[in-house]
Amino acid sequence: MGQYCILIHYHELGLKKNNKTWFEKIFQKNIQNHLKLLPFKNINTYASRVFVFGIDSNRWDEYQKILKNIMGLKNATLMYKVDADLMQIQDASKMMIEEKEFNSFRISARRQDKSFKHTSKELNQLVGEAIQKVCKKTVSLNEPDLNIIIEIVRGQAFIGANKIEGYGGLPNNTGETAISLLSSGIDSPVASFQILKRGVNIVYAHFHSSPATNKQSINNCKKIIDTLSQFQLNTILYIYPLLEIQKLIMDKVPDKLWIIMFRRAMIRLSCMLAKELNAKALITGENIGQVSSQTLSNIQAISSASSLPIIRPLAGHNKEEIINLAKMINTYEDSIAPHQDCCAFFTPIHPELKAHIKKIEYIESTLHDDELYKKIIEKREVYQT
Ligand code: ATP
Ligand code: MG
Repeated sequence: MGQYCILIHYHELGLKKNNKTWFEKIFQKNIQNHLKLLPFKNINTYASRVFVFGIDSNRWDEYQKILKNIMGLKNATLMYKVDADLMQIQDASKMMIEEKEFNSFRISARRQDKSFKHTSKELNQLVGEAIQKVCKKTVSLNEPDLNIIIEIVRGQAFIGANKIEGYGGLPNNTGETAISLLSSGIDSPVASFQILKRGVNIVYAHFHSSPATNKQSINNCKKIIDTLSQFQLNTILYIYPLLEIQKLIMDKVPDKLWIIMFRRAMIRLSCMLAKELNAKALITGENIGQVSSQTLSNIQAISSASSLPIIRPLAGHNKEEIINLAKMINTYEDSIAPHQDCCAFFTPIHPELKAHIKKIEYIESTLHDDELYKKIIEKREVYQT
């Protein structure tokens, strides 16, 4: 008798010998943490694969939803484990087709263990014939209704038919920390996802103008954070009240420059947070040319407020591409929920399109706002998943 388990492949491109073990250790730990509410006995990594043993195969739907969101995962398959013995493999493969409706099928065998006496090609043939004996279905290599996967690993055979694709990339916590500026719009959650996929640990910062605006943007951000925490467990959001600094800016600075000055204030606060948390970069959802604050001159004027590199993963994306990604990661609905954006609320009729850094820096130096920044940091709130 065999037993069910889950076989996981990761994206191992570019992995070097020395960091491979380190990488696998973190990936395995992440899987363990993500699956903590589902039954499993142990997780092992060998032959560049991760195996989850002692699972409840009836709950595969629940496992797959969680596994799909683990960064670094290339694919995962519900497998039935038997000895690497042809008869057992054929029997297990026949079991895979029970209660399944299909007209065509294929066998996709892979032999990691070269001591197994049949090659992958032979195995495809031998198992395919055994299946056809019991069900008379046709083989279709290109578009089969059912793909039966067989992997021979270290004297054992794994047979499965339910495979899911992950997002690939690198596991959480293999990179350093970055601060993502989260606005509750469509773009910034997508930008965050792109960088989460690169193994970076993200801490989020949101800026609001309450009580001048309602708290809807904060609530939307919390929901977005809940969704993003499927990709990175234990997510933290810092919520900053920006209104006092906005009032000062609106009082002292020509209205054309307000938006740029608000953005610079956000950047400065984010850099201070980065210093506290030893984060190495900022992330924004900025997109070239999409709105007035996103001309190249204004991006330059906003960037110069930062002591850290600003990563803009969506710079070259079209809106439609971003919307599709937002739908894919399930943040879209919360991003389009009505809210008052802290910058849009005070938008001047003619915002500056080509801000001059020297002028902006001079105006900023006359604001004497250091105390105000300290106050805002004292008043920030924290939301944690
Ligand atoms: P988004 O859809 O993310 O709101 P956008 O296309 O509306 O982006 P902007 O509103 O100009 O563009 O914002 C550009 C980026 O600046 C955002 O993607 C986000 O990273 C950051 N940002 C803007 N407003 C805020 C805010 N209130 N809190 C935190 N970050 C913000
Ligand atoms: Mg926005």
